[in-house]
Amino acid sequence: MPVPAATEPASSRTAVDPRPGLSGLADGVLEAWLADQGQPSYRARQVRDALWGRYASSAAEMQTLPSPIRGTLEAAFRVDTIVADEVTLADGGLTEKALHRLADGALIESVLMHYPARGGRTPGGGHRERHTVCISSQAGCAVGCPFCATGELGFSRDLETSEILDQVRHAARRLAAESGGRRLTNVVFMGMGEPLLNLDRVLEAVAALSDPDRFGLGARHVVISTSGVVPGIRRLAALLPQLTLAVSLHAARDPLRDVLVPLNRRWPVAEVAAAAREYARVTGRRVSYEYVMISGVNDTEADADALCRLLRGDLAHVNLIPMNAVAHTPWQASPPERVREFAARLTAGGVGATVRRNRGQDAGAACGQLAADRAGEPPPPAVERRRELILRQSEAALRGDRSHEALPDGLVSVAAGEGR
Ligand code: SAH
Ligand code: SF4
Repeated sequence: MPVPAATEPASSRTAVDPRPGLSGLADGVLEAWLADQGQPSYRARQVRDALWGRYASSAAEMQTLPSPIRGTLEAAFRVDTIVADEVTLADGGLTEKALHRLADGALIESVLMHYPARGGRTPGGGHRERHTVCISSQAGCAVGCPFCATGELGFSRDLETSEILDQVRHAARRLAAESGGRRLTNVVFMGMGEPLLNLDRVLEAVAALSDPDRFGLGARHVVISTSGVVPGIRRLAALLPQLTLAVSLHAARDPLRDVLVPLNRRWPVAEVAAAAREYARVTGRRVSYEYVMISGVNDTEADADALCRLLRGDLAHVNLIPMNAVAHTPWQASPPERVREFAARLTAGGVGATVRRNRGQDAGAACGQLAADRAGEPPPPAVERRRELILRQSEAALRGDRSHEALPDGLVSVAAGEGR
């Protein structure tokens, strides 16, 4: 039987299982395959309904299909690209962290967060109940932000479209089972990896999520978070999807951002903000800026003032997130009082800001941390060396020196290719 064409090139598929993932197939591929099998065209809808209506994880669950076709379908495609899940609850059940194992053994994470409805005094002031899933776009990440557990793991590989989508299907399936059929309301690309460095696959996933015949979620309920891949932001703006763009800023001054987000050595703060401004202009959508607050590093009045100078007048909003502790850094979260003062200074300076609580702290904290825990604690001398290096770099940055260090290995090819 010929191996069907998938959306993604064969080279990016996991060598251990060459069958393409069913959920990530390009338009028309399933229809063509079914026609080859002599099947009527309505079978494609039956498969799609099973995938996206009942979140089927095997062909055996696709009861509307005749039994022989279930067998051939399973032989040609992976109905589910996630081999195993380990789910941990936190926040009294409001946060569910899932560690997923893929066919080649790669570990990735997604987090399902439940936000109960909140009343408001004014019309529109309250919030409807929300169920948000935070998903990964890569296994590991090449950007290497020193406060991030994923960054510490390094980069393994890009995820396939179906591996991205199957995280959503798993969360949707669990939610429907737990809540008597409730549906996900938001999907955010804030798990492992840099989505704009795997942009083709991410865009295919967004197209499937917003397709009324598949997941049917409005694109404006999808957030893509980037550490500042300028060509990717420009490409998003040109494609005009009604997505929400989030930019992980963490510092408004180049010397400090060179250390906190090493990609800044390639695309500095002003270029990132200019690309985001252009995105807001052409799409009319407000850009969110994420700012992880690290005590004594990026939480001073001078940092708040630099942020105001950078963003004042923009269609933008800043989310302040106290840093989750990670093993390999010497840093601590800014104290709550400092975070409140910082927020007040931004607001007084004309920049909207909200303090966010980082969800899932008692279930392995921030992005990538479950997988990092699984990778094992690095040997103490390595942690010590890493901490010293981070301290040395940040001391120079706090003096205002720009980094003269080369880009991390994993980023050299990215910068040479101007992002993908
Ligand atoms: N790579 C993309 C998206 C994934 S990271 C990006 O950086 O935007 C998603 C968010 O988690 C980012 O804003 C990142 O800065 C934040 N994050 C990473 N480590 C964290 C930590 N230790 N504490 C709090 N937030 C963290
Ligand atoms: Fe990568 Fe984002 Fe983590 Fe930085 S914060 S290392 S860009 S996943």
